[in-house]
Amino acid sequence: SQLFNIDLIRSQFPSLDLVVNDKPLIYFDSAATTQKPQCVIDSLNQYYSGGNANVHRGSHSLTGSSTRRFEAARRTVADFLCVNHDAIVWTKGATEALNLIAQSYARTNLSPGDEILVSEMEHHANIVPWQLVAEQTGAKIVKLPVDPETCTLDMDAFYQRLTERTKIVAVCHINNVTGTRNPIEEIIEASHRICAVTVIDGAQGIVHERLDLTRLGADFYTFSGHKLFAPAGIGVLYGKPQLLDAMPPWHGGGKMVEKVSFEGTQFSQSPTKFEAGTPNVAGVIALADAIHWFNNIDLIGAEQHIASLQKSLYQGLSQIPDLRVVGYQPGSSIVSFVIDGVHPSDIATLLDQQGIAARSGHHCAHPMMDALNVPGTLRVSLAIYNTQQEISQFIEAMEIACDIL
Ligand code: PMP
Repeated sequence: SQLFNIDLIRSQFPSLDLVVNDKPLIYFDSAATTQKPQCVIDSLNQYYSGGNANVHRGSHSLTGSSTRRFEAARRTVADFLCVNHDAIVWTKGATEALNLIAQSYARTNLSPGDEILVSEMEHHANIVPWQLVAEQTGAKIVKLPVDPETCTLDMDAFYQRLTERTKIVAVCHINNVTGTRNPIEEIIEASHRICAVTVIDGAQGIVHERLDLTRLGADFYTFSGHKLFAPAGIGVLYGKPQLLDAMPPWHGGGKMVEKVSFEGTQFSQSPTKFEAGTPNVAGVIALADAIHWFNNIDLIGAEQHIASLQKSLYQGLSQIPDLRVVGYQPGSSIVSFVIDGVHPSDIATLLDQQGIAARSGHHCAHPMMDALNVPGTLRVSLAIYNTQQEISQFIEAMEIACDIL
């Protein structure tokens, strides 16, 4: 991969040249979704203008090449995660992948009295599917608490609450409010000692680390393409093949069957049995193109760049009176903060007038907000295309906003 070069990176993202409210855009909301490099935009365009056809159906040439590219993309994702291609299931996103695990794996394996250990810092997408399946099966959700001072998981509580009743442990790789990186290696190892299945929500983690899921040993790992420079509407479920093979389908329809008759239906093997209906072929191919692009990035250099931006951001914000950074995680891509007596959305609106896109609110993490005893935060989330100059402009804009408020 090439050495990290911020100018070269930025030049590949046309949307970074946008003007918002008469100001050059400063995009600080990459944890919500990343901007897209030109090669990903071209990929979508090329697919629809030069190769659109349904996959795994019919025998004409276009469907053949579309199917080959679709399955090659599965291998690209599998190689990226260091797993076999039949362990990769296409979904609409992380949310759908987590619901698939809940409704297929958990619904058939949980009994009354079984426990699902879910961390308090989870995005709603890694809480609500467990609540739905707990209701259906009589299983119980056990909360894995967050230390409100450090915004990290309370690992003593984890070991206390991990018992022979625990059947599933669901935690995020990296949290979306503070950027906390959980000790997933330790969590997976401890969970496996009591034969609990681990579900790692990689929606935020996937873009900051190169992964080897075979070595990590997670049973399930999920992410969305749109936070990894790919389009929205495509996501990935990784599952250990022996788990996927034993799981029943959850959506019925075309493509996921070998033979349908009114007497009974024979399903395809996994992963196909989980992919009912026409898939997002363009999204799948564009995700593979995003990963090819991402594989060429010097990720260590990029992460050092992000960490140095995040440090300057933290130092700048620390000078602002009455501003409190929530659960600062050195080296992460996120800074979340509150200002006494000021609603985060009022700050976000004033920043928007300066062309700055930052996120205010609860970040789809009500339980974490409750644990931290804040109604919401203002969140700045950085990516490889942000610059020190943007950080300086942001701090100036914050000072102006604070004078107004
Ligand atoms: N988990 C985490 C940690 C997230 O940040 C998000 C997206 N905000 C999700 C899950 C859900 O992802 P999506 O909405 O793309 O399905």
